[in-house]
Amino acid sequence: TMDSDTILRGRGVSKQFRGLRALSDIEFDIPRGSICGLIGPNGAGKSTLFNLITGYYPLTSGTIEFNGARIDGLATTRISRIGIGRAFQIAKPFPDMTVYENVRVGALFGREGQRDVKEVVEQAMNLMGLSHLAQRKASSLTVGSLRKLEVARAVATRPELLLADEPCAGLNGTETAEMIECLRRVRDQGTTVWLVEHDMRAVMSISERVFVIDAGTKIAEGAPDVIVNDPRVIAAYLGA
Ligand code: ADP
Ligand code: MG
Repeated sequence: TMDSDTILRGRGVSKQFRGLRALSDIEFDIPRGSICGLIGPNGAGKSTLFNLITGYYPLTSGTIEFNGARIDGLATTRISRIGIGRAFQIAKPFPDMTVYENVRVGALFGREGQRDVKEVVEQAMNLMGLSHLAQRKASSLTVGSLRKLEVARAVATRPELLLADEPCAGLNGTETAEMIECLRRVRDQGTTVWLVEHDMRAVMSISERVFVIDAGTKIAEGAPDVIVNDPRVIAAYLGA
């Protein structure tokens, strides 16, 4: 069982790809209504963890609970429908479709019982600051707008929990700050957010709790001000 303040819980989460131990015995409790960070060097296993949570790969061992119920072993479509949204590290919008149409695809694949798709799409575009680009083709967007579109598609599934995998990758400082502000708005309307982000300042500014993984192992977890001073975290980032 799990207290209702925890939306997502992992215990002993491990993943082996043939010879490679990509994740070892990872534990996490994500507080409902929070924004949490997930950081670690390239290849640490961050995207793999999101792939396990969203059912893209089976766990080698361990359990994942969402709202107190086991979700490991469920299909990706089911996990999306019960309320976990995902913005991918590599955004793959339909290039010939408009922003509106792309976000609409998210809405159609989202939680069951969405009555007003148009309203859901407009709210997602609005939250992500994309409304003025609604009729633009995805192929014509800047990198910054493409990143927002990827998040908007996930937001349109109306998730209780949004997993955002490097939504600021490739963005400049201004665009990064904008994205962080958008994610704050998403949280403020009730969605818990777990964010993978390389920009330390950005992730530390927005996160209530930060999880640090290195080479498949969780090396630290805590409030941002504790994490930035943790010697293991500093060592992992300096490659020591
Ligand atoms: P991060 O997102 O932290 O940069 P990843 O989760 O993408 O790291 O990758 C973690 C490790 O798992 C890497 O060594 C990567 O090569 C490996 N990996 C990820 N996906 C697969 C896969 N489908 N098959 C084999 N190895 C994989
Ligand atoms: Mg990754």
